Amino acid sequence: MILTLNLIQGAIEMLTLVNRKKLVEAGRGTRLGAHWPGQRCLAKTRKGTPCQNPVVTDRSRCRMHGGKSTGPRTPEGKQRIVDAHWKHGRRSRAHVAKVRYINSEIRRITNQLKQSGFIP
Ligand SMILES: [Zn+2]
Repeated sequence: MILTLNLIQGAIEMLTLVNRKKLVEAGRGTRLGAHWPGQRCLAKTRKGTPCQNPVVTDRSRCRMHGGKSTGPRTPEGKQRIVDAHWKHGRRSRAHVAKVRYINSEIRRITNQLKQSGFIP
């Protein structure tokens, strides 16, 4: 009886050891050590150091730094983002079109004056 129990106990220990080793080996590929080849989060932590977490698939941020975010959805939210990124408007479509129109008018008037002989 004792011999049978010892045998069973030994078999269980062996099985556990083998399984644990297999588990450790199986998890080795997904560990995030210093030489982990995957892409890491580009966010800056509150400490000032770069975030070390892996990115969410097809994103540049981890799950805690906005990787899961799909961006603003409502018109108010989208406008808030536009306002937050607006600096001076010198490259906005409206301003560029206005400058183009002014320059074309200057060219047109200059050409008319040249053809009329007012300016050489
Ligand atoms: Zn992060």
